[in-house]
Amino acid sequence: MVQKISAVRGMNDIHGEGADAFDYLVHTAETTFKQYGYRSIRLPIVEKTELFCRSIGEVTDIVEKEMYTFSDRNDESLTLRPEGTAGCVRAVVQNGLAYNQIQKLFYTGPMFRYERPQKGRYRQFHQVGVEVFGLATPDVDAELIVLTARLWEKFGLDNLELQINSLGSQAARVAYREKLVAYLSDYKDQLDEDSLRRLASNPLRILDTKNPAMKELVEGAPKLMDHLDAESAEHFEQLKAHLDDLGIEYVINPNLVRGLDYYNRTVFEWITTELGAQGTVCAGGRYDGLVEQIGGKATPAVGFAMGIERLTALLMDHNKVPVLAQPDVYVVLVGDNVQRPGFVIAEMVREALPHINVQMNCGGGSFKSQFKKADRSGARYALVLGDQEVSDKVVAIKPLRETSEQVLVSWDDLTEHLAQLMPV
Ligand code: ATP
Ligand code: MG
Repeated sequence: MVQKISAVRGMNDIHGEGADAFDYLVHTAETTFKQYGYRSIRLPIVEKTELFCRSIGEVTDIVEKEMYTFSDRNDESLTLRPEGTAGCVRAVVQNGLAYNQIQKLFYTGPMFRYERPQKGRYRQFHQVGVEVFGLATPDVDAELIVLTARLWEKFGLDNLELQINSLGSQAARVAYREKLVAYLSDYKDQLDEDSLRRLASNPLRILDTKNPAMKELVEGAPKLMDHLDAESAEHFEQLKAHLDDLGIEYVINPNLVRGLDYYNRTVFEWITTELGAQGTVCAGGRYDGLVEQIGGKATPAVGFAMGIERLTALLMDHNKVPVLAQPDVYVVLVGDNVQRPGFVIAEMVREALPHINVQMNCGGGSFKSQFKKADRSGARYALVLGDQEVSDKVVAIKPLRETSEQVLVSWDDLTEHLAQLMPV
């Protein structure tokens, strides 16, 4: 026997209900974004490695240990994107979309991080993301949050907690950083290896630690929120006022710093307690300095990304995935001369009534076996064609979910009849 080849660890096939949930989530998200005036952007999966080092930050989990980096045949260092924002900023700058314009964009696709695979954490995972360029005011921060809240409402997910924080300005962070380093230096013996290293290079990252042993230490640290510059404090007040007006509940989490360096001012996460340790299903914030850092003209920006795998897990746990692939009509074909007219009739219905899903029996079989398949398909009606129906140019419409009698209709009247049975 030839040995089977399995998928790469942490990279999953998504099939069955998982795939239905995935499609439903993406479709609903994209429809909602459009409802708010956002537009699609499609971006490469591979970028130059330098892009991620410069944007996400050299001293972050992602850049230090999670990137899939390789040399192409021309010895250029490339990386499978670990997130979408950097590539989106690069695209906006390169295509001249940011300067003196407002852009409201969304994207969907795979991301890659070399993490330890576990529930809700994979090496290929998928995100739906939104980025807004050219707006510095807190109304747009609030719009992104209300947009996500609207999505949870459409999904029927009512158990997500919104956490918000403000990281202030770059300058305020420099002042705060000194206070944080002074505090943490007093507890060096309690810092893990990563944190000891970051104490000098990027101490704010320590607040984002996933190490439970350091939780208490981190909670006792001075709060960035108490060291905000006046403008950032006002920005945060206005954001909260919008959220209050819109009836969106939130919790202020002063230790929410996010795992990427480019954020300033508003950061937020939507969190569930139902998925174990991997509870953040959506995360984002403002990154007013990033466009300039990537070589564009200074442009304020804000965005978020949702983890599709974590959200579809929630949707499935709560039975919130509608059945999308189910046929409405199953075409049963039994006889020597039925195959060809049956095919034509199935296409005729599909063309005239695109809201009706038509599944045609392929591969033959007896009435009994075809009706069994029709029943299992979930279809509401069977269209039945035997040799007699073909010679009379009629078709039988047989209800599969109710006890009423089947009716015979002429081929000419078929689509009209079906339209009455199943209106748009
Ligand atoms: P975490 O703290 O869980 O590692 P993160 O801060 O690294 O998340 P972001 O970069 O903000 O995550 O990505 C946004 C969202 O993408 C996360 O909230 C999560 O839902 C999802 N996500 C991130 N990494 C993974 C992964 N390895 N597998 C599955 N989903 C992920
Ligand atoms: Mg992470």
